[in-house]
Parts: sequence; C-alpha cells; structure tokens
Amino acid sequence: MSNSLEKLKKEYRWDIYQCSLKCFNCMYINPHYLISQDFYINCPAGKFFGFDTFYSGGRMEIARGILDGSIKLPLKDNKMLLKVIYACTTCGSCENICYYNREIRTTEVFETLRELLVENEIGPMPEHIKFLKSISENFNPYNEDKSARINWLDEDEKLNEIKNNILENDYKILYFVGCTSSYRTKDIAKATVKILNKLNIHFKILGMDEWCCGSPAARVGDTILARKMAQHNIKVIENCGANLVLFSCAGCYRTFKKDYPKWGLNYNFKVLHISEFISELIKNNKIKLGSIDKKITYHDPCHLGRHLGIYDPPRIVINAIPKINFKEMARNRFNAWCCGAGGGVKSAFKDLAIFAASERLIEAEKTTDAEYLISTCPFCNLNLKDGKKNIETKIIVKDLMELLLECRVELIE
Ligand code: SF4
Ligand code: SF4
Repeated sequence: MSNSLEKLKKEYRWDIYQCSLKCFNCMYINPHYLISQDFYINCPAGKFFGFDTFYSGGRMEIARGILDGSIKLPLKDNKMLLKVIYACTTCGSCENICYYNREIRTTEVFETLRELLVENEIGPMPEHIKFLKSISENFNPYNEDKSARINWLDEDEKLNEIKNNILENDYKILYFVGCTSSYRTKDIAKATVKILNKLNIHFKILGMDEWCCGSPAARVGDTILARKMAQHNIKVIENCGANLVLFSCAGCYRTFKKDYPKWGLNYNFKVLHISEFISELIKNNKIKLGSIDKKITYHDPCHLGRHLGIYDPPRIVINAIPKINFKEMARNRFNAWCCGAGGGVKSAFKDLAIFAASERLIEAEKTTDAEYLISTCPFCNLNLKDGKKNIETKIIVKDLMELLLECRVELIE
C-alpha cells in the first residue's frame, strides 16, 4: 500500500467519515457573523465552479470512495477527478465552519489526496510540474535564476550594505525573505528591511543560501521535494547561529511553523511573523509611530489566519497608527474570504484565482469604503493586485510593512 493511501486510511479515516452527512454547510461563513447577503458563501472553488463536487463535501466524498474501494486507483484517465482534487485553494474555511465536527481536517485530507496522486504519477497538474522543476533546479518556483535571489538589494542603494551581513555569522536575528518577495513583490522585502533598520534591529539574510520554503511543493502533493527544501533551510539557519527567524510571508511562516514539525523536521530556533514581532514591540511601548490619515481594511491571509490562528497582531500594528480609520470587511478573521492564490490554484486555475481576488476587492470597497487593503502575505498581495486588473476599483493593495513605511517609525530607547 502506498504511503499516502496508508495515511488516508490510518490518520484521516475519522475525518473522512465525519463528513458522511455531506451537508455542505461548510460552503458558507458562520451565520452568526453574517453582515452582508452578498458575501455569505465562503468557498472560492465551489462558488467559482458552481456545483457540489467542488465544495469540501465533494472532495471528502472522493476520499471516502478511495478508502472503501468504490473509486479505484490509479484513476489514470479520470481528468475530472484530477481537476476536482486540485481546484481548491486549501484555504481552510470549510474545516473552520464544519457544523458536524469542529476538529475535522479537510485540508490535510485534500493535501494527502494530492500526495496520493503524485505517488501514482497521476498528479500534479502540468502547470505545477513546471514550477516543481524550477524549485528543484533554481530553488524558487518562478523559473528565475538562483543567483538573482538578492537582486532586490541592488535596486536600492541604502539596502546594499545588507549584503555584508550575508557573509557574517554572528547575527541572532534572521529575516527569511521567501521566493515571492525576492522575485515578484520586491517592495515588500525592501519595506521589511527598511523597517527593521529604522528599529535598529541587527539582522542578516541568507542570500543565495535561502531556498524555497517548500510550501508550493507541499500544497500540490510533492512532499519529497518540500522536505528537501526544508532540510536545507533548517541546516543553513542552524549553521548561521540565528536564534530568531522573522518572516514577512505568511506562507513561508506557516510552512516552517506548522509543516516542518509535522514532517518530523524540528529545529533549534524560534520563528515569528513580522506582524507578531512588531506588535510585541508596540505592546511593550517600544515603538513610536507617526500618523496616517486613511481608511484601511485588512485581509487575513489563510496561512496566517485560519492555518495558524494569528488574527490580532496585524490588527494591533494597524490600530497603533494614530489617525488611522480601520474597518473590518464583511468576512474577516476565521470567516475571511481567501485571496484565491494558494494550493497551486494561481498557476493551474488562473480564472479561479482572479475571480477570488476580484471578489475580495469588491467586498473591501463595498463593505468598508477603504482606501488601502492591507495584507501580510506577498502571495496574497500579488494575486490581489492581479485581481485589480480585472475590475474597476480605486482601492490600493499594500503590505503591512509598506503601510508602516508611510509613517514615522521610531524605536523608544
Ligand atoms: S479549503 Fe477552501 S477552497 Fe478548498 S473546499 Fe475548503 S473552503 Fe473550498
Ligand atoms: S465538511 Fe462538515 S460541513 Fe462540510 S459537508 Fe462535510 S460534514 Fe458538512
């Protein structure tokens, strides 16, 4: 029996049979929190494709069929089944809302189904194979040269000195930049470094020794490649002697914090999202912030929110800025609508990714009238900006670090 089939049978049988009702309540937000009828459905995949199979209950039924043998492996010619299993952002809204059992682990079941497809050489989708090849050869999913990983430092003279830190071993704090900010949303990496500099935080980055965190590979079922990335990253971080690693990417952070230990890969350093790090400084009255007179709303990235339960730190940072006018969207915190990019969807199901991002922007505009839509994940940022090309909206998509850069940030000694 294959590893993942055994895992489905032993570890996830309970979850799969918990969903025997197929009640499909998990397609909505929790009705106790209902603010707007327009923003009630909360599964991007189900809403986009428009029928039951593409909601959580449909995928759980496929898992049950595989367990009891009514769906026969290897599924080679069933292209529709492949599509259903991969057309899900693994956002976690369904497992958050499941009325039948609060402990259900739908996204782990879906990721194990994907592992099973990869093991049987049926999955992933052709678009995923391209980025997996790039991770394997270039250590990033964007088909970019590995030597270009630190090019964002050259784009700003003031940041160039960070390059010296790459060679030194005695920094206790490390900033793990992540592939998306290194190659696509470089302004987030630059803003993070500038904020850390303003706060007199001595830190280093790994430069070319930083490899993809493994998240894109893990989400589409290639756990062998994901583990290879994880083992390398843990080794280089432990060798450099850092005892605290900061992340500006919700996806990298979730992978280090939740997945590495789940894969049996433990490490001797502490990990924090930059929003947690700065919110702690704010709580301890260590930071003085200048004002921003703007209407702001916040998008919870699924990796940081539902997958790690981190909702307050970004809100603490935003609300610490004097004059800011903060308003929540109709779907927020554990009811947040996914940006649409995760789980390999942005590469294999581009229309679904753009649909979800556009809906988030419309929700921000209609339910908050905000000028800025703030997030704490470069991949959300990238997809929301792509969604903006699809609709008419004045809202500006920004990362929390870019927002901070707009005001005076000082460390109180
Ligand atoms: S993880 Fe998200 S996209 Fe996937 S079935 Fe659940 S709610 Fe839908
Ligand atoms: S995951 Fe829970 S809420 Fe969704 S269909 Fe299954 S039992 Fe119902």
